[in-house]
Amino acid sequence: MKSAQIITNDIFAQVLGLTDQHIHYFETPTNTKTLGIHRLMLTDFQALVTSAAKADIEIKIASGFRSFERQLVIWNNKFTGKTAIKNSGGEQVNITELNEDEIVAAIMLYSALPGVSRHHWGCDIDIYAANLLAGKPLQLEPWEYESSGPMAKLSTWLDHNAATFGFYFPYDCYRGGIAAEPWHLSYVPLAKQYQAAFSLENLQQCLFNSDLSGKSTILENLPNLVKRFSNNINVCELSLHNRSIQINTDTTGETRG
Ligand SMILES: [Zn+2]
Repeated sequence: MKSAQIITNDIFAQVLGLTDQHIHYFETPTNTKTLGIHRLMLTDFQALVTSAAKADIEIKIASGFRSFERQLVIWNNKFTGKTAIKNSGGEQVNITELNEDEIVAAIMLYSALPGVSRHHWGCDIDIYAANLLAGKPLQLEPWEYESSGPMAKLSTWLDHNAATFGFYFPYDCYRGGIAAEPWHLSYVPLAKQYQAAFSLENLQQCLFNSDLSGKSTILENLPNLVKRFSNNINVCELSLHNRSIQINTDTTGETRG
């Protein structure tokens, strides 16, 4: 992809999901690099998992790092109607009744625009407790994490313990942008650095050079979309001065788009 060649500064490439050099991939039966998280988050994440296990909660990652290209496929499939867009009630949205602006807003309730997904950073993950599913498939819907849902025990435990390990919920409630996502955890020591490195100009350039569906509508509206969906989140007020992790930007790994 062209934009991967243009944006060469490493942290900017990481912010946009154009590289995976910051990612540690977990071994899977197929070893296809399907599940990975930021390597500087591994220690604290593993400590969180170990602590939860003592409370009989077996934490698993439903979704970790996602590249720009992966997010682009998700986006384009929704924009073109190949995959369903759901509203906050879990019902399918009929996109034939919507204009492009409305389709963009409907997708962004649950799926980020490529280049602004916090999953590009590798320090944001969607989690669940495998042992609390009781044989039912995980749907990543809010009711599962509420007090009467199968993940209630996980939610309560995280409310009390996530901050101890440096994690918080950026999508704790709906603020007019992204829906509440009680499964989405963010690792603050790294996330705040990616947030600070975000550049609207780089995003614009990257999207301009991509095969994004709805591109002209999106580019016209980009500052507003970023304001409404990316910046309109839970501001982390955790006291994490005991954690200082510097993202190494000197690495010379290969970037990919
Ligand atoms: Zn997520």
